[in-house]
Amino acid sequence: MDIIKKIGNVIDESSIIKGDDLKSRFYHIWKTDISLESICVLLPRNTEQVSEIMKICYENNQEVIIHGGLTNLVGATKSNNSQIVISLEKMNHIIEIDTDSKTITCESGVILEDLINTCKEKSLLLPLNFGARGSAQIGGAVSTNAGGLRVFKYGMTRNLVLGIEAVLPNGTVISSLKKLIKDNSGYDLKQIFIGSEGTLGIVTKVILRLYELPSSRLTALSALSSYDDVIKLLKHLEKKIAGNLSGFELLWNSTYKTMVSEKTNYNKYLPDTHKYYVFIESTGSDYENDYIKLENVISESLEKGYIEDAVIGKNDKEQTNIWGIREDVSVLADEREYDQHFDISIPTSSIGSIIDKITHELLKNKNVKTIFPFGHVADGNIHFIIGKDSDKDSITKKVNEIIYSNIESVNGSISAEHGIGIDKKEYLKNTRNKDEIELMKLLKKSIDPKNILNPGRIL
Ligand SMILES: Cc1cc2nc3c(=O)[nH]c(=O)nc-3n(C[C@H](O)[C@H](O)[C@H](O)COP(=O)(O)OP(=O)(O)OC[C@H]3O[C@@H](n4cnc5c(N)ncnc54)[C@H](O)[C@@H]3O)c2cc1C
Repeated sequence: MDIIKKIGNVIDESSIIKGDDLKSRFYHIWKTDISLESICVLLPRNTEQVSEIMKICYENNQEVIIHGGLTNLVGATKSNNSQIVISLEKMNHIIEIDTDSKTITCESGVILEDLINTCKEKSLLLPLNFGARGSAQIGGAVSTNAGGLRVFKYGMTRNLVLGIEAVLPNGTVISSLKKLIKDNSGYDLKQIFIGSEGTLGIVTKVILRLYELPSSRLTALSALSSYDDVIKLLKHLEKKIAGNLSGFELLWNSTYKTMVSEKTNYNKYLPDTHKYYVFIESTGSDYENDYIKLENVISESLEKGYIEDAVIGKNDKEQTNIWGIREDVSVLADEREYDQHFDISIPTSSIGSIIDKITHELLKNKNVKTIFPFGHVADGNIHFIIGKDSDKDSITKKVNEIIYSNIESVNGSISAEHGIGIDKKEYLKNTRNKDEIELMKLLKKSIDPKNILNPGRIL
């Protein structure tokens, strides 16, 4: 094809995957058995190549889909046979780690876990942490404004990004690579690329803010009988170990039971008969003191009746195992052939009653077989994996309707962290008003007038 010939002048032959070789490529890490549909996959090695490729695509009205680590949960990396895929996987260099300014500068294709480990070697913490960290790229995390397990202490990805370099749909390189925490010199341009799911530009480099690495990390798992107690426990922890509390994750009974069932390798630390399970992480600077503090607060919570049972991880191995239960959600998706994933935001106080109401309404539908709620309850974000015995559109719509109407009733959001992608586009109007959506469209049209970059996502 003409366009591949032109691109061949910009990148070497080995960086263009086409024809039969596309059969080994896929659009999602959970769908490796489905071959990618695309004209070709391009693997640029630097920003200049991304820019040159985009200039050619812009001139030729060529649609482009961006691939990071392919872990998103909203169908955002699907493509078709008339689209070109640009994958950032070869742009995976860490450029600088500045221990004094506490920043790391890297290309966007670096895997999140590699960044976390590199920072750790320098006694620094990159607090961004979620189950897909071994595959997700930092460019993907920035483009989806990923959240995860430590948001209520450190904020979303947006709070960690100090600088960005991005390539616009017409090939222009916008370099905003500053290490500054404060910079009010006009519009904060990097923000338009954070969380916009690759619809406004291709992120090529990032500067992230780091923290001193806490020298102690402790984990506790507790069992509770009511949602009121979940809130009481959270408040109690916030009062007693305020600065140390860095994780507070909730699993409902059905979820915990499946995650510690014989289908997984995880130890059942507590019996699977309680209504709720809370995973607690405390980080600090003095292991022995921090341990005593956590032990005391857990004992008090038992005495006050907030929790029914609890266990504290005795060593690194036990802590990793306990968090493994929470993070390994693939077992929930594997339960049924067909599933729907939700990532909703509702006020923390309403979570218990709304999830009970949604569960009750869903169970009236005989095609719904499993309901697994879990999530980052301290920041109001709950995930749902719903297993069904059919992939019929009418059933999918019914499930969406139940969940989204309940969220609307408490002024919540249909996407706390995963984004809109393709799968949730139809429901954007349930969360954003007409004027907000019009402004989004105006922004997209100004930056991508030919609608060639990640078309059909969000809007
Ligand atoms: C097991 C599991 C657990 C997860 N847990 C969480 C969680 O706790 N919190 C959370 O927020 N998310 C979570 N996710 C979702 C997902 O991991 C995040 O959305 C992640 O940030 C996506 O990164 P990625 O590199 O895989 O991006 P991809 O999936 O490849 O892409 C995501 C979107 O960003 C675009 N994109 C990718 N790279 C770039 C780039 N360089 N420039 C511009 N656009 C780009 C893509 O086109 C797409 O629209 C989880 C996913 C899984 C599978």
